[in-house]
Amino acid sequence: MRCPKCPGTLEQKTYGRKITVNRCSDCGGLWCKPEVLLEMKREWMSEAVLDSGDPKVGQALNKLDDIKCPECGIDMDKTMDEKQFHIWYETCSNCGGIYLDAGEFTDLKYDTFMDRIRGLVKGRRPSA
Ligand SMILES: [Zn+2]
Ligand SMILES: [Zn+2]
Repeated sequence: MRCPKCPGTLEQKTYGRKITVNRCSDCGGLWCKPEVLLEMKREWMSEAVLDSGDPKVGQALNKLDDIKCPECGIDMDKTMDEKQFHIWYETCSNCGGIYLDAGEFTDLKYDTFMDRIRGLVKGRRPSA
């Protein structure tokens, strides 16, 4: 498949038994299905292996939001993450595919992880 944001090619990458994503050979953007994204969030170190693109390239390409789904060829919708409002990614209303710029998955996952730690610390703090 062709990358929707640059002239690169989406190459299939696997991690563990359940995760298969498509990563652009040029810009490092990731394209996957929502159920795979959930698995990626659960899997330890998946971001280091899968989200290996340059976040600077991803940031520049994040401004490019008029893209078409690499699988269906229809316009993708710009979606704001429900927990982290600074993260925007593209979703396909037809196949459910998600496109994340390089570095975006790390951002998504890292903050979720940090939030959990903050939650734990807060929960253990004795009340004054
Ligand atoms: Zn690309
Ligand atoms: Zn699609």
